[in-house]
Amino acid sequence: MVTNPGFCPFGAAEWEALKRRHDYRCAYCGIHPEGLLEKDHVVPLTKGGRHAIGNILPVCGACNRSKSDAFLAAWRMRKQVRRSDAATGAGRGGSAVVVLRGD
Ligand SMILES: [Zn+2]
Repeated sequence: MVTNPGFCPFGAAEWEALKRRHDYRCAYCGIHPEGLLEKDHVVPLTKGGRHAIGNILPVCGACNRSKSDAFLAAWRMRKQVRRSDAATGAGRGGSAVVVLRGD
């Protein structure tokens, strides 16, 4: 049934579950956005990332616009985001590895 192995469509339910897993906060800065959470491609589509639930994080509009199509690690370095979970370094070297809120 899968004709394009690189393409994994996801539905509204999966998106909802992902947001719930992040407590409806921005996955990057942790705020509860006033508006809707937006879908950020962790590995940007322009850099070979997939439009798949495993490559999507719920983020606020400010982070989404700030990150744009940068790689997450590069963007974080640029922003010098100093969050405890960002300090673990678990995402280093892996382009698709995301440091999720582990608590
Ligand atoms: Zn944010």
